[in-house]
Parts: sequence; structure tokens; C-alpha cells
Amino acid sequence: DADEKANANLVEKYIVENDVMIFSKSWCPYCTKVKDALRSAKIEFYSIELDKMGRDLSLFKLLIYIFIYYLAEGDQIQNALINKTEQDTVPNIFIKQQHIGGCDKTLEALKSGRVATLLNPPESEKKHKKVENDDLDSYDYDLIVIGGGSGGLACSKEARSFEKKVCVLDFVKPTPIGTTWGLGGTCVNVGCIPKKLMHQASLIGEYVHDSVDYGWSQLDQARQHSWSKMIESIQQYIRSLNFKYRVDLRSKGVTYENSYGEFLSPHRLKLTDKKGKTKEITGEKIVVAVGGRPKYPDIEGDQQYGITSDDLFSLKYDPGKTIVVGASYVALECAGFLHGIGREVQIFVRSILLRGFDQQMASKIGDYMSTIGMKFHYQRIPTRLECLEEGKPGKLRLHYRQTLESGEIEESYEDCNTVLFAIGREACTNELNLDKIGIEVNKANGFKIKTKEEQSIDIPWLYAIGDCIDEQTMPPGQPLELTPVAIQAGQLLAKRMFSNSTIKMDYYNVPTTVFTPIEYGAIGYSEEDALSKFGEDNIEIFHSEFVPLEWSICHHRDQVKTMSYCKLIVDKNTDRVIGFHVLSPNAGEITQGYALGMRLGATKNDFDMTIGIHPTCAENLTTLSVTKSSGDSAAQEGC
Ligand code: FAD
Ligand code: NDP
Repeated sequence: DADEKANANLVEKYIVENDVMIFSKSWCPYCTKVKDALRSAKIEFYSIELDKMGRDLSLFKLLIYIFIYYLAEGDQIQNALINKTEQDTVPNIFIKQQHIGGCDKTLEALKSGRVATLLNPPESEKKHKKVENDDLDSYDYDLIVIGGGSGGLACSKEARSFEKKVCVLDFVKPTPIGTTWGLGGTCVNVGCIPKKLMHQASLIGEYVHDSVDYGWSQLDQARQHSWSKMIESIQQYIRSLNFKYRVDLRSKGVTYENSYGEFLSPHRLKLTDKKGKTKEITGEKIVVAVGGRPKYPDIEGDQQYGITSDDLFSLKYDPGKTIVVGASYVALECAGFLHGIGREVQIFVRSILLRGFDQQMASKIGDYMSTIGMKFHYQRIPTRLECLEEGKPGKLRLHYRQTLESGEIEESYEDCNTVLFAIGREACTNELNLDKIGIEVNKANGFKIKTKEEQSIDIPWLYAIGDCIDEQTMPPGQPLELTPVAIQAGQLLAKRMFSNSTIKMDYYNVPTTVFTPIEYGAIGYSEEDALSKFGEDNIEIFHSEFVPLEWSICHHRDQVKTMSYCKLIVDKNTDRVIGFHVLSPNAGEITQGYALGMRLGATKNDFDMTIGIHPTCAENLTTLSVTKSSGDSAAQEGC
């Protein structure tokens, strides 16, 4: 019947989600014995105590729920296990979804090496496509990493800590207008670091306005923002980081080649340096960590006159009036800081803001940005970019097609000084010769390399990490092209490749923040995804609109004061918080703190029992009592 099926499904879920799954009872000495043995062998396992429901709080709640609703007699999970395995005792153990048995059989399997083989099958047993090998007796390197960005550097340094011979290649192909940069990849040179510093530049501009209500003298009207000074300070800092990375590789003994790598055969690479000099190297294992680069819309004049984020952060001239094309992370962040430092900005949105994110939050960001003066044009798609006047900046005309609310199509143009295309990114896989060595990329997903647990689906000794992977274990639709994700994946992969580690990257509950003028931090499910996965009856949403205290006395913030907002999406059955969203000043810092709680499976009760720090924006998440379903006002009153 339905209950039986639900229990069987739950058992299946545990087995599939955990490499080593132990169904146990807290008082059982055999359960303790087998767990101790696994611990001594440094093998990670997951266990649930069928009598006590385990130590994990969220799981505890989940199982309590099962108790109340399904378990009149208390051990239907065990019945489901008996049905599955015909074993009526605990521990009942599964490794990589194979039923091992009880304590004795597992200890035997540990001793014989079967457990290790199941967890780490020899290359020959892995189900890979057969690929012609180079037939080499020895290799120049134990590991070659292609790409010295966030993931590649982390992976190569970690591999070196196991005394492996490691080479990392990093080469930046100039943008169409000739911008290039040093070692460290996207984050350091043309991503997180300069972006966050420019975001800070724009926040400082706001604080200067705030200062008047805090008693500082009126602003000097002549005070201006200097683009060139900001670029100089940021680029100087970036150069120091480039230098630090080179020194770090040298001191750790990782060979660094400032060359472009491409495959000649599955273990052999051709390296080409900036002078065109070539050489060949071989590697036993190869990690592809080539990241991605911005796309152009493929319209007349795009590459000749337009720029992307790859150019913006070191642009030698003030961009002036800028049209930003695109409506995701990069587009909204860049538009936000350009406006914040006083440049006129218009945003061409093809469809919606921040696809993939919670759409209530996305529209709140849009409202905030429009209120402070940015102009959004929806359903507008560029068709041609024309140069009206050369210069730095020159004058450009961006022709576009727009679907009006009436359904009519309008063709028109907008003049500006700079057009920034921020319409997504593609993995740098097209010139690696991957097709020649039998590696498939997913053309529908930015030409990313198909992987499972960062290992290529096609070749067992080839791995990939970071922005260039189409990873099967990632939750669908999550934006996970993030620096800390690439770093952790690289470090864990190196440990798995060169030590006995079996710890895998966990792509769930990855926190992220969009650094728009009001920051937006998120973890877990969006409201849309939670509704479609769990159903309206099974989730409750708690929310609050609040005024950041620091803004409360600033008159120039009057129109946006009440726009800070937070919400928690809660699974009603388990009380577990499955979605965390906050729109406020410093949301990045707030979200990072709560990410730990979310990882540990925090429930709404845990949030409520957490003592807030007063007066902060973050404390609002500990006092949420208004549910969306009640229809009551979310506006917070008083302290
Ligand atoms: P990358 O860092 O891109 O490194 C790849 C390296 O490989 C590059 O140096 C590339 O030139 C080199 N390469 C490519 N092909 C070859 C080859 N054939 N031979 C040799 N070298 C090669 N993430 C965050 O977490 N927080 C943020 O705030 C944030 N802001 C961002 C802002 C912007 C504007 C952008 C574009 C990205 C931002 N990201 C942010 C995303 C983050 O930068 C990336 O997720 C991260 O850099 C990915 O690291 P990676 O190692 O996969 O690739
Ligand atoms: P995305 O792929 O997330 O978004 C692309 C945007 O461009 C969408 O709004 C899309 O619209 C629009 N678009 C695509 N093609 C066209 C076109 N031809 N004409 C007009 N608009 C178009 O890319 P991003 O570059 O913003 O971000 C890439 C990744 O980088 C993110 O997923 C994120 O992981 C990472 N990143 C992280 C940051 C952070 O942590 N703060 C900051 C910046 C980037 P539509 O919705 O209609 O498809």
C-alpha cells in the first residue's frame, strides 16, 4: 500500500544518496563495532538509528514525522529493508548501492579489500568509452592541469602536497579589443575581485550621501569620481595577486607554463607560448580547468565596438553612458556599480531578470535598481551596433528590436558611449581538440565537458572542474559557476586522485550572493522550485520587510528604505529550512554565516531559537513569524 511504498522509497533514497549507508540501532553492539571498523579505515559512512532516529537534527525531524504518520508499530523502515534484503537484523549495510549484509559480512568485505574496491573501482572497471591510449611507459608529469584559475590552481597545489609531479598551464587569449591579464583566472582578473571592489566604490558613493544626515558637512559639489584612479588602484592590486600566485606555485614546486594547451592525443599536450614557440608534454592524469569566457550576441559590430566584462575592469577610458545587454549576475552587478559611481546606465533585458533565481527576489532587485535611477527596457534584443564617432569613449548606436506590450514589434535604436554585452558565458573547450580524443561536450550547455564527480564520462584519466563542467551530480538549474565551488572541487578531486580520500564535492546548498546595489544572498530552493518540488501544501514561507537601521536616518534613502526583505522557505513536514533569501545591505556577509546552518540541516525552530544580534539586518532571519499564506503584512514595525 501507499505507506509501504513510501518506506521502500525512503530506504532507496538513503541507499542511493550515501556511498556507505548503515541502517543501525543505537543500542546494538554489532552496529557500533562495524562503525568503529569503518572509522579506523577512514571510510565515511552515513547511518540512521532506527530506534532513535540518529543525531542529525533534520533527519531526526524527518523520522519523527515518519513515526507519527507512518509508523504505528515503529519499525516499518526495517520492514522495508527486510522486503528488500531478506535480512531482519541490524546493522544492514549498503556500499555504492550494493547490499553487503550485517556486521560480519561487512568486516569480511573490509578485510578482503572489497569495500575499498567498491568505493574506488580500478580504472579498468569503470564504465568508460574505450579510448585509444598513447601507450606510454612513463609520463613527464603525474598531473597536468590546463587552466590556472580558481579551480586549476587549487587542484595543482593540493596534488603537489602528495609529492606528485605537477604542471599547470595558464594562457589568456586577448579579447577582440586586445585586453589580456595575468595568472589567476577569471575571479582575480576579470571577475569577483575587481567586481567587488567596484561594487565597494559605488557603495562608498552612497555613504558619502548618507554622511550628511550623520552630521558631516555638505558635499563639495565639485567632488567627482575618477574612473582612471579607480582602475589604477584595482589593477595595481590585481598585479600584486598575479605575482603572489606565481611565487606560490614556484615555492610549492608546481611547474607553471604560461602557454596555451591543446590535446594531441589522450595523454599528450601541445603547448604554445605567446611568441608562438611550441613544445609537447605528457601527463598520466589531466585535469581540464579552462573556465569560460563571455559570449557575444553575433550581430554586426558586436566584437568591433562592444565590450564584455573581460574588458570593463581594466578599461583605459571612462565608459560614460553605458548600455548593458543581459539581465543576469554579471549584467546587473556591472550595471549596479556603474550607476553607483555616477554613470548613466540602461539595461536591455531579453526576458526576465536573474533567470534561475527566486523571481520574487529578482523583481525586488529590479524595483530597487529602477527606484535609484536605472532604466530597464524589457523584451529588447540588440540587432546591430554602429559606431557614430571614434573616441575613448566614442559614440555608439545600438539598434534593437523590442516586443511591445501590445505585441507589436518595434525596431529602433539607442545612442550611448559604451555597450557592455553580459549575455552569458561559454566554456573554453572549443580549441582544446577534445573531439579528437573522444571527449564529448554539451553544446546545449555552453560547450561544457560532461562529467560525473568531476571525472570525464569518456576518458577515465581525464577530469574537469570549475566553470567548464557539465556535472551530473549538480542540482539542475543552479548557478554554480562560482569561485569557491571551483576551489573546493579542485582540492577534493586532487585528494581523491592521489590519496585514499573518497570525499566528493557537495553541490547542494551552495550559498551565493548577487552584488547588486542592494545585495541579494540565497541558499537552496527558490520559491518556484520549492513549490514545484514539494507542492503548495507542504511548504510554508515566512517573510519580513525591514528597514536597515543605518539607513533609517538618511533622507536620500527615503524611497528605498523599506525595500530590504528576507524570507525562509520551510518544509512543513520536517520543519527544515529549504530556501534562504535575503535582500539587504551586506547580504553577502549575512548569507555566508547562515550557510553553515543550512548545511547542517537547520530547521525553522533552529532559526527561531538562534539569538539575534541587535541591531543588525541579519537578526531579522531569527524572528520571522509572518507567513506568506496568512496574507498579513510583512512590514516590520519598531525595534
Ligand atoms: P577560470 O578562473 O576562468 O580559469 C581558467 C583559466 O584557464 C583562465 O586563466 C584561462 O585563460 C585559462 N585557459 C583557458 N583555456 C586554456 C588553455 N587551453 N590552455 C591554458 N590555459 C587556458 N564567482 C563568485 O564566487 N563570486 C563572485 O562574486 C563572482 N563574480 C564574478 C563576476 C564576473 C564578472 C564573472 C565573469 C564571474 C564571476 N564569478 C564569481 C565566477 C568566478 O569567477 C568563476 O566561477 C571562477 O573564476 C571559475 O574558476 P575556474 O577555475 O573554473 O576558471
Ligand atoms: P547567465 O548565463 O547567468 O545569464 C545570461 C543573461 O544574458 C540572461 O539574462 C539572458 O537572458 C541574457 N541573454 C543571453 N543571450 C542574449 C542575447 N542574445 N541577447 C540579449 N540577452 C541575452 O550569465 P552571466 O554571465 O550573468 O553569469 C554566468 C555565471 O557567472 C553565473 O551563473 C554565476 O555562477 C557566475 N557569476 C557569479 C557572480 C557572483 O557570485 N556574484 C557574479 C557574476 C557571475 P534570458 O534570461 O532571456 O536567457
